[in-house]
Amino acid sequence: MAWDFATEPTFQKQLDWMRCFVDTDIIPLELISGDLDQPQLDILLAPLKEQVKAAGLWATHLPPEYGGQGMGQLPLALMHEVLGRSVLAPEVFGNQAPDSGNAELLAVGANEEQKKRWLYPLMAGELRSSFCLTEPDTAGSDPTTIRTTCRRDGDQWCLDGHKWFSSNASVADFLLVMAVSDPDAPPHQRAAMVVVPRNTPGLILMRDVGTMAHANEDGALMRRIGGHTELRFENCRVPLDHMIGAPGEGFLLAQKRLSGGRIHHGMRMIGQCLRAYDMLCERAASRQLRGQALGSMQRVQDMVADSASEITMARLLTLHAAWRMDHVDARESRVDIAMVKYQVPRILYQVLDRAIQLHGALGYSTDLPLEEMYRQARALRIADGADELHRQTIARAVLRDVKPVTGWPTEHIPTQRAAALERFGVLLESLSSKAPRA
Ligand SMILES: Cc1cc2nc3c(=O)[nH]c(=O)nc-3n(C[C@H](O)[C@H](O)[C@H](O)COP(=O)(O)OP(=O)(O)OC[C@H]3O[C@@H](n4cnc5c(N)ncnc54)[C@H](O)[C@@H]3O)c2cc1C
Repeated sequence: MAWDFATEPTFQKQLDWMRCFVDTDIIPLELISGDLDQPQLDILLAPLKEQVKAAGLWATHLPPEYGGQGMGQLPLALMHEVLGRSVLAPEVFGNQAPDSGNAELLAVGANEEQKKRWLYPLMAGELRSSFCLTEPDTAGSDPTTIRTTCRRDGDQWCLDGHKWFSSNASVADFLLVMAVSDPDAPPHQRAAMVVVPRNTPGLILMRDVGTMAHANEDGALMRRIGGHTELRFENCRVPLDHMIGAPGEGFLLAQKRLSGGRIHHGMRMIGQCLRAYDMLCERAASRQLRGQALGSMQRVQDMVADSASEITMARLLTLHAAWRMDHVDARESRVDIAMVKYQVPRILYQVLDRAIQLHGALGYSTDLPLEEMYRQARALRIADGADELHRQTIARAVLRDVKPVTGWPTEHIPTQRAAALERFGVLLESLSSKAPRA
């Protein structure tokens, strides 16, 4: 009987330390760092990163041979629940997206020379990276349709194409780019993964796209983590040794970076849920209306109860998916991961909406973090694959194992009753003949 919902006491102590550190030392910096550029932000965060390293909690997502701490998915998930309380916390702990996923990709796909050049410095926090798959002119939900090309020309790869929503590209030292290397191959074997360092001629960073999270009306490059860049490759050339894996292996490699990342995103969302939930409960207990606390009203109690149970459901779903990844593997856990990816953002949205509602005008105002959290949360139903795609993954996997029937459904009562009578009829008759007469 191996089910166990307890956290090891030594790890719980680390989680407690993280929670205190995030709330006391990182969240306050969110409030005063909005106008800083990246070098200034780096200076502000550097001493905090040293504390994380001293606590042995830096870059926990990969094993020590790559410079990480080698936690399994379950402890990582619990850790991300704490880090999710703040948008800056993953950066301070060295496991922020997209760098963490890119490091996972390089760990499985790069050769030793490439690891030395890009993976180890990435894990040490000396380099930043971006992942460039999505294009404005093709549907990101079907990445086999990408049009950016990667053509061999002598001893170079030559890239041409248009990408956007490449997170952090305006501050990245290198980009991991998915581009078509083998146009005539089967769809999932057409693309390659190529490293394009910053300042490569022909890499044109156009703008960081304004979003619900960052308005950016003048279309400038933010040059700060959190931006989503639109960029072009125009006759952009890199040496042959900048390809990770072989031509045509891009999809295989891209899959490696997605699975764990989606669980960590899920747990970070639960961290956001819990922060909003704490605010919701505090307001329910504190705000007085007609001489009573809001929380004494049944509709408000419904909000508290629904939020508490939905967060618990989301948490268990996500921890179970993490546990499955540790015990089977990412491929076998695809359906579990898809459930997390589409359910948790919906729950986060509902909890945030209730917290805003219960704070009235204050909830709608910028005096509380709720409105910003609400705007940020909207992206999560699209980024890393739209909800519909994940629902489709689940339904297809479920239906693949279902045997179709001809005629009546299996649970058709008249058919089942007839079968039961045929099986037990004689026994039933003998029982009625033995029944005592009135
Ligand atoms: C904040 C943020 C960060 C991102 N970071 C990155 C990044 O770092 N690198 C990168 O390459 N990309 C990134 N993206 C892009 C993201 O991966 C894509 O937006 C996503 O894959 C959807 O692709 P699309 O935008 O082209 O929408 P489309 O594929 O055009 O889909 C549009 C809509 O169609 C519907 N739809 C799609 N498929 C189905 C279906 N099977 N059934 C029914 N309806 C469907 C959905 O409602 C979907 O939202 C990011 C996006 C966001 C919002």
